[in-house]
Amino acid sequence: MRLYDPKTIREVLSRNGFSFKKSLGQNFLINPSVCPKMAESAVENGEEAVIEIGPGIGVLTAELSKCAENVLCIEIDERLRPVLSETLADCDNVEVVFGDCMKLDIAEIIEKRFKGKKVSVCANLPYYITSPIIMMLLEKRLPITSITVMVQKEAADRICAEVGSRESGAVTVAVNYYSRPEMLFKVSRGSFMPSPNVDSAVIRLSVLDKPPVKVKDEEGFFTFIKAAFGQRRKTLINSVGAAGRWTKDDVKGAVASSGLDESIRAEALSMQELADVFNAL
Ligand code: SAM
Repeated sequence: MRLYDPKTIREVLSRNGFSFKKSLGQNFLINPSVCPKMAESAVENGEEAVIEIGPGIGVLTAELSKCAENVLCIEIDERLRPVLSETLADCDNVEVVFGDCMKLDIAEIIEKRFKGKKVSVCANLPYYITSPIIMMLLEKRLPITSITVMVQKEAADRICAEVGSRESGAVTVAVNYYSRPEMLFKVSRGSFMPSPNVDSAVIRLSVLDKPPVKVKDEEGFFTFIKAAFGQRRKTLINSVGAAGRWTKDDVKGAVASSGLDESIRAEALSMQELADVFNAL
């Protein structure tokens, strides 16, 4: 089936009485060139199994099914059950689990279905929950090699910015703590049905074996990073000092003992410098 064809999509959906739910970020891909490139990236390092979040009508799933030995999809919307039974009828290496990806135990799914296999994640993520899904996948330290995802262009720019550049933010540091992000390609808003108000981009996060810096307490480090970038135009001392957990004097001392200038802002610091200040705190 030509699952990227708007006419096919309309027919399949109306046959199954399905209407789009904006609240679930349901913008389905209608650009035929996008899915093969995403699927290729998902199996680039010989991955045998791919987990897809939010298959929708199954356009990316069908492409993944051609490239990987096994595909497991997690879809929150039960109304897509009959749709996917129809569209993926020929893909016998695909399993769809219905549930919220934020609530399901993905580590257990991997352990049960794909033990010993090289696994990656690939998805056209629902916009309303992009960063929480990415951080959940990384923070759980799942046994996955990479995450290839389509996100809003603005989110992609932020995630793929250099740590220590004006474009960086808390999410840049958090993602770089667990992975090596790269921008793959841009996707225009016209590539979706219905068309969203913003453009998108596909990024790839190659998961690191170990973090690039040593911090004394990971949870505390991420609290520090949120505070540091919370008021990005302020100095690090004022921004972290105002967040409540540390006093301004504590931060002043940590900045000085890390050999940094008092007027430094979070966005000007490297990963190592951020770790140094935090460890000193
Ligand atoms: N993969 C399809 C495509 O590219 O056309 C659909 C992508 S659409 C942007 C996002 C999909 O994620 C929808 O099918 C939506 O129902 C599903 N979704 C939204 N929130 C979810 C969640 N928390 N867990 C699993 N799936 C979710």
